[in-house]
This record gives sequence, structure tokens and C-alpha cells, in this order.
Amino acid sequence: MAFATINPATGKTERVFPSLTPEEVEALLQRAVAAFAEYKTTTYAERARHLLTAAELVEGEVPDIAHILTTEMGKTFASAKAEVSKCAAGLRWFADNAEELLADEPIKTSAARSYVHYQPLGPVLAVMPWNFPMWQVIRFAAPALMVGNVGLLKHASNVPQTALAIEDLFRRAGLPDGVFTNLFVESKDVAALIADPRIAAVTLTGSERAGMSVGAAAGGALKKSVLELGGSDPFIVCPSADLDACVRTAVTARVQNNGQSCIAAKRFIVVGDVADEFLDRFTAAMDELVVGDPFDPATNVGPIVSEAQRDELVGQVEEARRQGATVHAGAEVPDGDGFYFAPTVLSGVTTDMAVAKQEIFGPVAMVLAVPDLDAAIEAANATPFGLGSSVWTDDDDEIARCVEGIEAGAVFVNAMVASTPELPFGGIKKSGYGRELSELGLKEFANAKTVWIN
Ligand code: NAP
Repeated sequence: MAFATINPATGKTERVFPSLTPEEVEALLQRAVAAFAEYKTTTYAERARHLLTAAELVEGEVPDIAHILTTEMGKTFASAKAEVSKCAAGLRWFADNAEELLADEPIKTSAARSYVHYQPLGPVLAVMPWNFPMWQVIRFAAPALMVGNVGLLKHASNVPQTALAIEDLFRRAGLPDGVFTNLFVESKDVAALIADPRIAAVTLTGSERAGMSVGAAAGGALKKSVLELGGSDPFIVCPSADLDACVRTAVTARVQNNGQSCIAAKRFIVVGDVADEFLDRFTAAMDELVVGDPFDPATNVGPIVSEAQRDELVGQVEEARRQGATVHAGAEVPDGDGFYFAPTVLSGVTTDMAVAKQEIFGPVAMVLAVPDLDAAIEAANATPFGLGSSVWTDDDDEIARCVEGIEAGAVFVNAMVASTPELPFGGIKKSGYGRELSELGLKEFANAKTVWIN
């Protein structure tokens, strides 16, 4: 049962898919290599045409695709529809902008003419997670395909129907066979695939553990890799913050995607005497959230993706309580089927607690009270991660200190962290390396060829 849809709302196994045999993988690899030989010669306009057709197809099928996402990983149907629509927008952005961004770049030197010319690398392997099962794949595929690479997807084992739907989407959009291929390959076989000389590069979005394994395999094979890993994003609240907007956004930032987002705010660091008021209002708002069937429009928070993941959450909350944190809301596993967990607030969290150094992947918020902004930035940086960060203040000097001082791939001020095709997305420290989206993401899997002509 390597690849299976296990509905997190019911706990029932709905569909099972066998892993590919080595012979099947070999045939698909050969097909991808053959496809690349043709596809790399296509024009940007041809590639864009396929991506725009894919975007149109997605726009016409939002509820159908969203239904698969919600069934496989439990996000609310509303957020699944939003994710699917965002995929269409992402496809359009790269279709519309890639040609200009990848145009030859003239550079002044002593040569008669010199410039940088961008070319594709070849078949790129994408190892992807279940939490944004369509967006993560499109975020890789749209730029990679516009550059002229071909894509091979090893998706998370619990979202096989999403993987097949994306492969089918690109086929229906007119991309030739082999340009985008789903591989039902198990994670234990990924390192061997990376080592295969026909794979040009690899990108992984996933956990730190998978990142170490994929990064090591790519290093061992001397291949380009991009790693988008976990996070424990700080959300700093300064006394000058607009507390109404801040609390409202804090709740969304923590429980979006049932709390299972790499860029969810996880540590709420509150400065000075606003701490008690923030904690009271935030706890009350978290307590009001409706937990339940992800297809019910009244639901704010659906189930956790799997029983194992929920057990891990329970363990993390228990450990925090043992180390001195106070539990203010939730922390309950409701009776009945499905892998639910009530939104939870932990206060009295300090940077030396185990939980403050881990990624909490579920609707559990940690609140840390600190005396001043320097202490807030120090606490923000006191994790192994460095993905996003959110800062709430009305003060230009505080904004400048946070932008400069926070160790992260992004700082959002008076807003929650989000991704959009125009802006680079990625982290530092144990949140990984490289960037996706924007011009930077587009060029991660391109050969920037220096040309010198006399
Ligand atoms: P995961 O367990 O690391 O799985 C991610 C992908 O890696 C899956 O396809 C998985 O396949 C594969 N995988 C797991 N172990 C592997 C190994 N040793 N070698 C090769 N491949 C391996 O992560 P997840 O639970 O799906 O996703 C949640 C994690 O992703 C969180 O840490 C989250 O923060 C992170 N994330 C990061 C970003 C970002 O942009 N920075 C975005 C979204 C999510 P199997 O399912 O078959 O094991």
C-alpha cells in the first residue's frame, strides 16, 4: 500500500495504487529523456500556449480538483478551491513572464559582445509534499517547463490522485508525453533516482529529514538541488500594532491549511505590556473556531493529515506542558472518526523548550512574552529554521530593525506570510536553500551560459 488515499476526515482508505516496478520507472525515464530532446527546441510561445491551456482547464474544473485535495489531505473545501485557483494564476504568470525574464542579458565587458544566455538543464525530479498538493507541484512545474526542462514528479504517498490529476492536466493541455511525468516511486528509491545520470537536478519541498536525504544524494551525485523545508515562523507583536487586525490575522496565519503550512505563524512573540491582552484575545478567537468536516462550509479547521501526524502533535503539546507551558485552549482529540485536533494555545513558552525549536505542524500556537524588540528578534532567531516571519508594528524604526535583524527568507510587515508568483520564496538555515517563484525561481533550473564574442 505504498500510494494510498486515506481520507483524514474518516480514517478510511479510499484508493490504493501500486508503486512502479523498476522496469516501469526505466521506461518512463527513457521517455522523459526522449521528450526533452524535442521539448528543449520549442519556443517560449509554444510552451506558454500549453501552460495557458492548462490554466484554462484548471479554471473550469476548480471544484472537481479541489474535491480531490480535500479528500486526500483534509484541507477545507474553501481553501482547496483557493489553492486550485492560485495554481491557474501561477501557470499564467510564468506563461506571461518567462520569455522576458529568460531573454539574453547583455553585459558590458572588454569583449565586442558579451551576454548571459539561459538554457534548460534536462529532466528535473521534483519530490513534493502533501500539504499544498497542487500548488507545490505547479510552483515547481510552471517555471521548469517554461525554461524548457521536463519534469518528473515523485509526490507524497498520500496524495496519489492529486498527482495523477496534475499529470492528466498537463497531458490535456497538449504537452507531449514525457514532458511531465508522475512517478509512483517510494521515498526509499529517490536517492537512486537522483544518482541516475539522466536526472539533471532535483527539487524537494518537505521536511528537514527528507531534505537531508535528498540534499546528500544530490551532493553525492554533484547535482543542482533546491530544498524548501520546514519552518517555525515568528509572528512579532509590538505595542503599537493594530491589535484587531493583528489578532484576526494571527488566527488565520496559525490555522490556515489546518495548521499544516510551512509558512504558518507558529511562535507568537509579544513585546511588553500588550502580552496579556494579545493572549486573551487570541485565545478567545482560537477557541471559537469550528473544527469538523472539511466539506462543511461552516468548518474553519479540518482534520490533521494522518493519525501519526496527530499523535506527534499530541506528544509535542504534552512535552510543552511538562516543560512548563500553560495550555489555554483546545489540546483535545475529539471522539469519533478522523484525525481531528482542537486549536490549541500554549503560553509561557520559552526559547529553551523543545517545542520552541521544533516545527509544530497543526493548529497549535506558542505564545512567548518578551520585554522589548531586541529580545523579540533574539527569540525569533532562536530556532534552527529561517523561512518566513511576520511583524506587527506602526513604527518605521521597528520595521527597519526587524527587516535587518530577523534571520528568515521573508519578512511581512502588518500582514501574514504568503507566496505569490512575483516574489521569491524560500528559506535559510534548516528551512533549506534556493528560491522558488519569481525570476530567481525561474532561473534555479537553467544554465546561465556566459557568452563572449570578439
Ligand atoms: P516529508 O515527509 O518530508 O515528505 C515530502 C516528500 O518527500 C514526499 O514526497 C515524501 O515521500 C518524500 N520523502 C520523505 N522522506 C524522504 C527521503 N528520506 N528521501 C526522499 N524523499 C523522501 O514532508 P511532508 O510531511 O510531506 O510535508 C510537510 C513538510 O514539508 C513540513 O516540514 C513543511 O514545513 C514542509 N514544507 C515546506 C515548504 C516550503 O516551501 N519551505 C512548503 C510546504 C511544506 P513519501 O510521502 O512517499 O514519504
